[in-house]
Amino acid sequence: MKSGDKIETLEEFRSIISKREGFITLTDFANPNRVHSVTCNRLKEKWFFEKVVENMGKSGSYLWYLSKEEAHQANPDSENCKFCNA
Ligand SMILES: [Zn+2]
Repeated sequence: MKSGDKIETLEEFRSIISKREGFITLTDFANPNRVHSVTCNRLKEKWFFEKVVENMGKSGSYLWYLSKEEAHQANPDSENCKFCNA
C-alpha cells in the first residue's frame, strides 16, 4: 500500500493495523474528517467493516498515510483525534 491509498478490504485494514506504522484519515460526509495513529483504539475492525464494506464507503472512507504531515496536507480540514492526538 502506498501513502494516500484508500483501504478497501478487511485484509488491508488488518495488515495496516498489525504493522503499527503510519496514520489513517477517516473521512466522513456527516462529521469532520479525523486523523488517527494506526495504533489508536478508535480504529475498530467492526466500524471499518460497517462503513467501508457493508455501506460500500457511502458515508466516507479510510485513507492510509505514511506520515502525519502527509495526512494533514492531503485533508487540510481534518481534526486531530481526541484519543491518539494524531
Ligand atoms: Zn485516534
